[in-house]
Amino acid sequence: MYWYQTTVGPAHVGFTNRGAGNLALHVGDDHEAVRRRRAALESQLGVQPGSMLYLNQVHGNTVADAEQLAAGVVPTADAAVSTTGRPLAVMVADCVPVVLVGQDPGDPRVCVTAVAHAGRNGFLDGVLEATVDAMRTRAAVRIYAVVGPSVCGDCYEVPEQMAADSELRSPGVRAETSWGTPSLDLPGAAVRRLQEMGVDVDRPQDQPTVACTLENTTLFSHRRDAGSGRIVGVVTVPEHPGANLGSDQQDGAVEL
Ligand SMILES: [Zn+2]
Repeated sequence: MYWYQTTVGPAHVGFTNRGAGNLALHVGDDHEAVRRRRAALESQLGVQPGSMLYLNQVHGNTVADAEQLAAGVVPTADAAVSTTGRPLAVMVADCVPVVLVGQDPGDPRVCVTAVAHAGRNGFLDGVLEATVDAMRTRAAVRIYAVVGPSVCGDCYEVPEQMAADSELRSPGVRAETSWGTPSLDLPGAAVRRLQEMGVDVDRPQDQPTVACTLENTTLFSHRRDAGSGRIVGVVTVPEHPGANLGSDQQDGAVEL
């Protein structure tokens, strides 16, 4: 069901594999089947049915505020941020999924979570910068990012002009396929960009299987199969450390 999962402070981070099935409604799959799989994932994660925020992803750089969105609302955005631990999901099949957790060493109540969909356009247009900014605006001081599986630089062949244009906008993103043609190394560029922003990055490479969606048939790949489904990167916070903050805060009843 999972390609990789880990915990970051109070947060649980996971990336599904094909075992969890296709989790996207926009790829021509039966909607009832997708909803059943989404419900199964929520149940397995132990979160409220229907609480997971999914996005209408358009390769942009908009960050949705999960606290402003009612259950079932699907915003058009390529990232989302939450300060309450609302379950967040990002769908991919070759693009780079990034799941982030922000904390404040001086305030254990702070746990800001986020997801981002960093495909070529979104990455070059700054979706990762926008996501990290949104987290810092919400009091995240130390941010940890987990970069999930995507098509790798050995496999992501692009036209020469696209490789050249991308390199101008993000030096270092240009790479070469294993067969010697122009390519882009988006996961490598995403890791570097996050590190430049002062984010600690975990890039699991072989946990338990290779991180390239094109090479790894236990993952979905749009390039290998254009009718492919989508895996998701998810973040949940089973017991949010700030959850008991409320009106009681004023009279000192909060226990940390
Ligand atoms: Zn590859």
